[in-house]
Formats: sequence, structure tokens, C-alpha cells
Amino acid sequence: DDAPNSEHFALRPIGHVMSDYPDKFGIPRQPGLAPAASARLVLAPPYNDPLAVRGLEDFSHLWLSFIFHQSPDRWSPLVRPPRLGGNKKVGVFASRSTHRPNRLGLSLVRLVGINTQQGVVLTLQGCDLVSGTPVVDIKPYLPWAESQPNAQAGFAPQTPSLMPVSFHPAALDSLAQRSDSATLHALIEQVLSQDPRPAYQQKDSASGRLYGVRLRDVDVQFRACLKDEATTLEVMAIE
Ligand code: SAM
Repeated sequence: DDAPNSEHFALRPIGHVMSDYPDKFGIPRQPGLAPAASARLVLAPPYNDPLAVRGLEDFSHLWLSFIFHQSPDRWSPLVRPPRLGGNKKVGVFASRSTHRPNRLGLSLVRLVGINTQQGVVLTLQGCDLVSGTPVVDIKPYLPWAESQPNAQAGFAPQTPSLMPVSFHPAALDSLAQRSDSATLHALIEQVLSQDPRPAYQQKDSASGRLYGVRLRDVDVQFRACLKDEATTLEVMAIE
């Protein structure tokens, strides 16, 4: 029924993120893990009024509230965090799972610029959102209130360990042709160092199997191999 109900709250996107991540696969699991990832947040009318962002340029970091629009609109009380290898369960509210009631996400991102020439476009760095993600709110980050370096972080106590990444000469040649080669090189390295392979395939270090991850407008093909006895992700081609 359409009767006004104080227990239902409709959310309207204030804008959309256009990011370096055309697909969900490969996106780091938290913002800041790939600082080379850049994105634009394009505000939509009537929220794209320059007055609405007055003063925001003096903040370096923002909280984005957004909708996990590519997740199904259903949830269950238990989820399997990839961090636990995908086989242990924790409560949905003890996780950052994308499968949650209301599908609300929260990411801390770096603000690098604001353009108000035509509407409002924010340039961001380090976000963990697929391109097209609807954003429902922006708030400036207050380090003196919100930074808690000694906080206890449950099953995710520290930054995930990094996987070594190497580039095949053919991939380096393709990179060299591009005007964004430096930032794309950094982005690929940061994304692959999080080991985006599915948890059940991570043990299989040298199957030779090719994986593909899309970043910006390219397809990055990589495989796992052993180098100096360490599993390494090698970029084979950038197309
Ligand atoms: N920092 C946010 C949070 O804690 O709410 C997101 C954490 S969530 C674990 C990060 C993952 O969400 C990414 O690795 C990506 O696969 C997925 N993701 C990003 N944007 C999405 C979207 N619009 N819909 C569904 N999944 C998305």
C-alpha cells in the first residue's frame, strides 16, 4: 500500500560513481587498498547544485553511502566472508558483506577535486565500487572523531597480505603504448596484489589457468606461477 508509513524510508540516489571497475570481479574488498583507482561521482539533479558541496573542497576524505545495486535483494543472517576462505560463517552484521538488508554500503574515499562547471562532479581516489553504483549520501570524514587506530577488528585484524605481481614483457609493451601507463600499471599491481582469484582456487598455485579482470577499458589476463618458490601473479596480456 502507498500510505505514508514512518517505518519505510525511500532512498533516492544523489548521483552515480563512474569508476575504473567495469565489473565486480577484481575490485578490492575495501577502499584504499588500490589508491591508484580513480573515480568520478557525478551528482544528479536536484542534488547537483554547487551550493550543496560548498566547503567540501577543504576535506581530504569522504564517506560515501551507496547501494550494492548489483547484489540480489535478499539476505540471510549468516554470510561467508572471503577473508575466512569462504567456508566459515559469521553474522551478516558482523561483516561487510554486499548481501545485507537494505543493501547499503559505506566507503571512505579520498577527495581529489570538485568540478562545478556543469552540475557537480567529484574526483575520488581509492574507491571499491563498481562503475554505475548509485550513491545516496556524502559526508566529510572527521579524523579526530572517527579514526581509531587501536580498534579491534574481529576476523579481519589487519591489512590482507600482498601477493607478488610481475608483468610479462608483452604486457609491459602494451602498457607502454598508453597515455595512462603509469597509473594503469599501479592499478593493475594493486588490484592483483589483493589476489582476486576465488578462494577455492587460491591454493592451486601453478595450474597455468588464465584469469581475466577488467580495469578501465582493458582486459588484464593473468595467471599464477611459482617464482623463487613464491606464488606470483603474472600479467600475461593487457588488451
Ligand atoms: N567498503 C564497502 C562497505 O564496507 O560497505 C564495500 C565493501 S564490499 C565487501 C566490497 C565489494 O563490493 C567489492 O569487492 C565489490 O566486489 C563489491 N561491489 C562494489 N560495488 C558494488 C555494487 N554496486 N553492487 C554490488 N557489489 C558491489
